[in-house]
Amino acid sequence: MDRIVVVGGGLAGGRTVVELREQGFSGAITLVGAEEHRPYDRPPLSKAVLSGRTDDTTLPFDLDGVELLLGRHATGLRPGVLETDGGPIEFDGLVLATGAAPVRLPGSADQRVLRTIDDARALRETLRPGARLVVVGAGWIGAEVATHAAAHEVAVTVVEAGASPLLALGPVVGGHTVPWYAAAGIDLRLGAAVAQIRSDGVELAGGEFLPADAVVVGVGVRPDVSWLESSGLQLDRGVVVDEWMSAVPGADAGGAGGYRPGSVVGAGDCTAWWSRRYERRMRVEHWECAQESPRVAVATLLRTLAGGQPSSESPDDIYNPVPYFWSQQFGRMIQFAGLPGPDSTLVLRGDPTAVAPPGAKKAPGWSAGWFAPDGRLVALATVARPLDMVAGRRMLLADAAPDVAKFSDLDIALKELAPQPV
Ligand SMILES: Cc1cc2nc3c(=O)[nH]c(=O)nc-3n(C[C@H](O)[C@H](O)[C@H](O)COP(=O)(O)OP(=O)(O)OC[C@H]3O[C@@H](n4cnc5c(N)ncnc54)[C@H](O)[C@@H]3O)c2cc1C
Repeated sequence: MDRIVVVGGGLAGGRTVVELREQGFSGAITLVGAEEHRPYDRPPLSKAVLSGRTDDTTLPFDLDGVELLLGRHATGLRPGVLETDGGPIEFDGLVLATGAAPVRLPGSADQRVLRTIDDARALRETLRPGARLVVVGAGWIGAEVATHAAAHEVAVTVVEAGASPLLALGPVVGGHTVPWYAAAGIDLRLGAAVAQIRSDGVELAGGEFLPADAVVVGVGVRPDVSWLESSGLQLDRGVVVDEWMSAVPGADAGGAGGYRPGSVVGAGDCTAWWSRRYERRMRVEHWECAQESPRVAVATLLRTLAGGQPSSESPDDIYNPVPYFWSQQFGRMIQFAGLPGPDSTLVLRGDPTAVAPPGAKKAPGWSAGWFAPDGRLVALATVARPLDMVAGRRMLLADAAPDVAKFSDLDIALKELAPQPV
């Protein structure tokens, strides 16, 4: 085994290189990345970079001895060979870590997205006091961009097609964030469909035109895997990988499609991985997945390249997390973990409508738990209550069924609710 090629120079790609060395791989590593930058962190882009607190989020990964092919695009894949716009590269093992790309809307090419550090730097230049900004989408990115723009005296309108912001958290929890927009001086339009993005603003489906100096579209991302379409690997809104993060050949590829099983693995946003915990395929475009999944992907790759099996029943060898995400918006830290089911019951902990008491700068925090019919806590959202999240994540991992009355009592610390496995 001589050469492992990593495609994608983001967090997952960079973490893969670190894991390869930490797990004892001493052969050649090539990192192929479409961006000109070394791996950098994206969460600060919509937080510290937009606000001007920092301009450099390069990750402190040791890439010594790694062949860095930056500004290079992978264009295709066949067994043992990665095609790139700079020529083919042979490999013994391959890690797919090409992340995700923002969805754009029909209309003007001037619409902005926020995915790269170059996007963030350019957007920061536009967010001058007095400028008019329309943000399409009141999801995570939209809310964070709106937060910073409003704080910089930009006139912000947020257009959301759904009935509440943060639809990923459901209408009740998302609905409790509506007043945050008004308090920040933002014009939030809910249930507003966009007809067209124009270079000078946004036309709504009802005919209203919202003039803008800049339009930021934050309506989600799609895994960046179109370049794998004729690879013979299975794609399903992401490269399909099993619980060991090993890429699964497509049915029409026949057998392993020529790929040695376990020799192509995936990590991070570009993957659609099989979850044993939830017994379904998962797509989680969040930082922690890109941070943690490379460990499992690399272990699988090295195990199989050393002659072992791609599968292993050791719990450490299986990627089986409870998904976790955080966001900072309107002066609040929001954290979310787990996976609510359609039959979950929502239980609030604290009062989301409470205002800051006299003398205090901020309103008190609150949390929301989703409970399965059998009493298990299956998901938790916290607003400015990080200790709830620490305890809650332990409960989620342990399949705990905390007492609902105690859960909703803010006088009881969540850590006191001992996990009760079902
Ligand atoms: C502005 C912003 C804020 C965020 N905030 C949070 C947050 O607060 N909390 C949270 O949990 N998550 C957050 N995220 C999400 C988190 O940053 C991502 O989940 C994480 O960056 C994914 O890492 P990745 O390495 O899988 O993919 P990426 O970071 O997308 O990296 C993939 C890399 O592969 C490159 N690439 C793509 N195609 C090719 C190709 N064909 N050939 C070569 N290279 C290619 C891309 O250019 C990119 O550099 C945020 C994301 C953004 C953009």
